[in-house]
Amino acid sequence: MVWRAEVLTLFPEMFPGPLGLSLAGRALKDGLWSLGARDIRNFATDKHGSVDDTPAGGGAGMVMRPDIATAAIDAAREHMPDGAPTLYLSPRGAPLTQAKAQELGRTPGAILLCGRFEGVDQRALDARSVEEISIGDYVLSGGELAAMVLIDTVVRQLPGVTGNEVSLEEESFANGLLEYPHYTRPRDFEGRKIPEVLLSGDHKKIAEWRREEAEKLTRARRPDLWARHSGNAK
Ligand code: SAM
Repeated sequence: MVWRAEVLTLFPEMFPGPLGLSLAGRALKDGLWSLGARDIRNFATDKHGSVDDTPAGGGAGMVMRPDIATAAIDAAREHMPDGAPTLYLSPRGAPLTQAKAQELGRTPGAILLCGRFEGVDQRALDARSVEEISIGDYVLSGGELAAMVLIDTVVRQLPGVTGNEVSLEEESFANGLLEYPHYTRPRDFEGRKIPEVLLSGDHKKIAEWRREEAEKLTRARRPDLWARHSGNAK
């Protein structure tokens, strides 16, 4: 059975969207993963198809109702294998990291609840033990783009999706560092030359240079990652 993403959204027509193109799209067509997008509005119980209501305690915006959200989750769970977590994309969630994406890739799939408005009634999240995941410290207008980001990063690590598996081992975050810089032809671009060592054919020296560059970049750009990396190395 292949990894499955089951998205709960008010905008199912947004899927597969960019996930239908390039690496993820090819893998989707080749059956290396699968995708479902369910319309949360199908679980509305009134003739207007309402899914939200005003926030208890007052304030701006609307909140997705717990009965609607749980009905959508329960229906999705019926079609998902055991061991597939239910995730709510939310700015309050635990940060999505490469390690988390790898962990998710080892599950049979995930149900991804996309919020809109002010978010989802807390009782739905508690009642269904939903895990909250954030893609960064900023607020999007809906969870769909966040779900796409999560799916993309999980799918590209699934076996057979990325042709050259070695590139996954060397890219940013794989070993706790940002990746070293890349160069290709021409040798001289507007007076800027490819570093000599990369043309030397000495693979040991090239590996050393790449490691040093990765460390230099990480120290300069991401002191938080560097502190963790150098702490782990001790
Ligand atoms: N009122 C919420 C808050 O302040 O935390 C923001 C709600 S936001 C306008 C609407 C929906 O977008 C959220 O329910 C969530 O599904 C999604 N969303 C927004 N920012 C996100 C982020 N950084 N990561 C993941 N999902 C996000």
